[in-house]
Parts: sequence; C-alpha cells; structure tokens
Amino acid sequence: MENSSYYKGVILDIDGTLLLHGKALPGAGEATAALRRAGYQLRFVSNTTSRSEAQLAQVLLLQGIDASEAEIQTSVSACLCFLQSHFSDKKGFIAVPEALQTRFSQLEQCGEQPDYVVLGDLDEGFNYAILNRIFNFIRNGAQLIVFHKNNWYFRDGKTWLDSGAFTRALELAGNTQAVVVGKPSPVMFQSAIQCMGLPKDQVLVVGDDVTTDVDGARNAGLPFLLVGSGKFKPADLTTHNIPQNHFISTIIGLPEWLQYRVTY
Ligand SMILES: [Mg+2]
Repeated sequence: MENSSYYKGVILDIDGTLLLHGKALPGAGEATAALRRAGYQLRFVSNTTSRSEAQLAQVLLLQGIDASEAEIQTSVSACLCFLQSHFSDKKGFIAVPEALQTRFSQLEQCGEQPDYVVLGDLDEGFNYAILNRIFNFIRNGAQLIVFHKNNWYFRDGKTWLDSGAFTRALELAGNTQAVVVGKPSPVMFQSAIQCMGLPKDQVLVVGDDVTTDVDGARNAGLPFLLVGSGKFKPADLTTHNIPQNHFISTIIGLPEWLQYRVTY
C-alpha cells in the first residue's frame, strides 16, 4: 500500500488501543505492520513510569506488534526530552523512586537551590521532610515537574493516595504551577514530534481515551482519531464533541482510514 495520505506520522497510544490487559487487541499487529509498509513514521506512547521503553517494546513484540525501543515514548522519556530542551544547563533535584534514578543519572543534580525539581511516584517515600524540602526549593524559584497529576489509584483492590495529591499541595503552598509531562500535557506529544521531525499537522494521534489522548492532542494542536476500544464509552462521542469522521471502532480500520485522508 502506497502512502498517499496527508499524514506522514502516527502516534499510537499503547494501553487500550493496541493492548488490553497486556494482550494485543484484535488486528493491532496487522494494522501496525500495514502502517510500516505504507511508510508512516510511528511512535508508541504510554504514561507509564513503571516500565522502561525496552520493556514496553518487548511486551509489544511478544504480542505481535512490531515496535522498537527507540519508537517508544513514556512520560519518563518525555520528561528527559523536556529537560534537555528547557533545562539542559541547569541543576535539578530528582525525587523519583530508586528504580527510576538511573534514567536521570546523566543530569546535573544538586541538593541545594536547584533550578527544577522532578517529583515522581514516591508512594511510601512521601513524608514531611521531603515535601517541605521541595516546597522550599519551589519557594526559591525551582520549577516543579511531574509525570502526571492523578490524585489516587487502585492497587491490590484498594485505593491509594497518588503523587498528584502531593503535587497539588505543593502548587497551593508554593503558589506555582507544576509542568506535567505525561498525557494530556502537550509536552508528551511535542517531544514525540520533535523526535519524528515532521510538521505537527501531519502527525495523527490515535488513542482510546478522550481525557488523555483526545484532550492531549487538542492541547498540543494535533489531529486525532479516537478508537472504540479500551477506555472508550459511546457517551465520549458527545461529551467530547468527537466528529464522526474522527472515530473508528477498532485499530484494524486505521490503515484504511489514513489512506483516504488526503487532506488535513
Ligand atoms: Mg489508552
């Protein structure tokens, strides 16, 4: 199939769009292969901070979806890309779980008067001392950078306080706004596009979640296509004003949808 589409690149959400509960959704492997044959540049995105790009590539490959580590973007890689373009000559205070520390080891870090603070999901590591330390850093002008702003999450059948609740407390006390690097922040898609080197109107965002993928694409000024799998609910079409021609029921329809989009 020749790429006659207006679009030259596709950003594919992973969970709910290509995979569901770790298994490939029907047609996900075939659709991805068809996009490759047609010559589209691909990026696979996920808000996860718990799995590396290499681990995600491995999961996708095992499920028959051809993706390389370099094509995968998580909120951690989006954060590193954001720091590279905005704080490359600055010093940071990195408050992330131990498993993520090595990802930030190339950056210049300091424990006094940093220019920015990266705050991750510390879970039981959150305490008064660390929060008060970060509060004073941002009072002195450090930029607070977070992966997401979820207030709580499910684990082991229970609800747990998430880092977003602490981020909001720090924003309130420090009279500041955190930079969010995960979806629906435009940072996530902007860094994917930066790596692709394409004009942004030629890159389509494809996902199942109106609050992260569609709102994220809209926040970044990118065209989107909603897929009716994963988190999708029929009511999303009306609550989020999704035009009928920006919706497909499953990922298998994506190559054909793209083929006939010869204009923006
Ligand atoms: Mg999703």
